[in-house]
Amino acid sequence: MKRFRYMKAVSVREAIGIFAAEPGAALMAGGTNLVDLMKYDVSTPTVVVDINGLPLHDITEQPDGGLRLGALVSNADVAYDPRITERYPLLSSAILAGASGQLRNMATVGGNLLQRTRCSYFYDVQVPCNKREPGSGCPAKTGLNRGHAILGASPLCIATHPSDMCVALSALDATILVEGPRGVRSIPFSEFHRLPGESPERDTTLEPGEIILAVDLPLLPPSMGYSYLKIRDRLSYAFALVSVAVLIKIDDRIIQQAHLSLGSVAHKAWRDKDAETLLVGAAPVRAVFKRIADRLLDSAIAQEQNGFKIELAHRATVRCLEQAAAGTPQSQANKRIC
Ligand code: SF4
Repeated sequence: MKRFRYMKAVSVREAIGIFAAEPGAALMAGGTNLVDLMKYDVSTPTVVVDINGLPLHDITEQPDGGLRLGALVSNADVAYDPRITERYPLLSSAILAGASGQLRNMATVGGNLLQRTRCSYFYDVQVPCNKREPGSGCPAKTGLNRGHAILGASPLCIATHPSDMCVALSALDATILVEGPRGVRSIPFSEFHRLPGESPERDTTLEPGEIILAVDLPLLPPSMGYSYLKIRDRLSYAFALVSVAVLIKIDDRIIQQAHLSLGSVAHKAWRDKDAETLLVGAAPVRAVFKRIADRLLDSAIAQEQNGFKIELAHRATVRCLEQAAAGTPQSQANKRIC
């Protein structure tokens, strides 16, 4: 690990001031990803700014009936908050599907959004990686790519975003509240993470010096069915091969509204609102769900080792839609898919 200076910010403006003035600065909250990146010399900040003293630790009611999650609320505190478990059980379920109890106690809302890909080449500074060192190459394209992207990849990077929480936030149409040198702004969740394109080193649309203040959850219509289905190599403490988050509203056996997001298939949580529109007005039956899965995955492209993820994503999409439509969401206490 390289030497660095440590500073503790006591206000949002102070944190932004340091972050904007020092190009080599990194913000640290729970540190569950940053510290690993520093140990591997993937991240070599000149200054680590501890932001745990900032007043961003609360979950608050919003005038529109939604909830605001402060950026420094721990993942565990979000998952177990009664307002979340009652009003946004999809989010609680997705968070509990991820990491371990210890990690969820330390990891924060903002940090979860900003975690880096788990592509093994990204963490090995002995090999090239366009995300870590732009222009150096992408060994994953001809190497180990079993867990990599099947949607939205670019010739420069085929990495996936590893978060479970973000898949639920995508389906929930959350909004990210950020502040930087130019003031405060809100970013729709769908515009927060980027596809790799020509600049895979950039994971988000945050501008220099901007920090996350909160995540806003909108008021949902009553009686929405939900399910978060995570498919992985082992039942706990593993990143997803494919995950699916579904919110669905059904009246009189007709789908009124549907939100569907796929995780671990792309550089960001993957939504196709045109495909969701095709669900509206249809009956909640397997044939319809299969057609939507076909549509969602019709542009999927496999790498040498991950062709199985296309079929896996298709089946997981159909299963998750069926679970949500039936009001029988995937249990996170019994993670077996049955
Ligand atoms: Fe790096 Fe992306 Fe290629 Fe992985 S997939 S080696 S993160 S450029």
